Amino acid sequence: MSLILHGITALRDTLQPLRAQQRIALVPTMGNLHAGHLSLVELARRHAEVVVVSIFVNPTQFGENEDFDSYPRTLDADVAKLDDVGVDYVFAPTIDEMYPVLPPPTQIRLGEIATKLCGHTRPTHFDGVGIVVSKLFNIVQPTVAVFGQKDYQQLAIIRQIVRDLSYDIDIIAAPIVRADDGLALSSRNQYLSDKERQHIAPQLHEHIHTLAQQLARGEHLVVGLSALLKKTAAQLNAAGFEVDYLKVTTPLLTEVTDSDKQLVILVAAWLGKARLLDNEQVQVQA
Ligand code: AMP
Repeated sequence: MSLILHGITALRDTLQPLRAQQRIALVPTMGNLHAGHLSLVELARRHAEVVVVSIFVNPTQFGENEDFDSYPRTLDADVAKLDDVGVDYVFAPTIDEMYPVLPPPTQIRLGEIATKLCGHTRPTHFDGVGIVVSKLFNIVQPTVAVFGQKDYQQLAIIRQIVRDLSYDIDIIAAPIVRADDGLALSSRNQYLSDKERQHIAPQLHEHIHTLAQQLARGEHLVVGLSALLKKTAAQLNAAGFEVDYLKVTTPLLTEVTDSDKQLVILVAAWLGKARLLDNEQVQVQA
């Protein structure tokens, strides 16, 4: 059984005696857990004797008109799932516990990386991610922390924070877990209607996978990257998505040049009430 702790002091007091002998892994989440989250827990277990999962719907990473109030909160069901996979501690703080002053006047400036892609549409989002992750790192002081590649830009930002603030934490990236039809699992998929979920949503991955195959064959070097992107975006819009962005970058999220062999396709698209994210890494063979 996992032990649920709501207080920072209680968690610190619990973990302190374990530190000398055991590695501690942290898996930060906003709850409403699915198989994607549980894969992170399993990966954490391979790197540490003690696994801590945090469940906190972090208000500072939601914009004013976003879904903070309606975001699904399912703590009891989450804890049952974590019991099944074997987690030692669940840290489920209240907002007051995490933020004595809200919004916190202390901020972390993340620079350019947080202004592009999702940061362009959600200008305050990564500042909120940065502060909550920094707090969780300070509270838990884990040996390793596991994050999903599904949120590719978030992972890059967390690596930047670890480097720039000298956190002594290994960041482990977990592969994207998908439904059988290819849709990346996400708590926000439940905002989709049955029709959107069944018939349209899987096409997001289908189309970026087709683009990935074209890039792997080096077609962008012949017809130009923007022509391929334009065609894929048009297919997504025709399928019923409203594309927020569709970009190809280097793994460090910088502009690609013709000599780059490792690429990442990143997409965010609205489908009905859900903003879906996906990405795929590509090795250019040409
Ligand atoms: P969230 O609860 O959405 O904030 O996600 C918590 C962690 O789970 C983040 O590191 C996400 O990248 C990761 N995650 C969410 N969905 C998936 C998925 N389908 N596959 C792998 N990791 C995921």
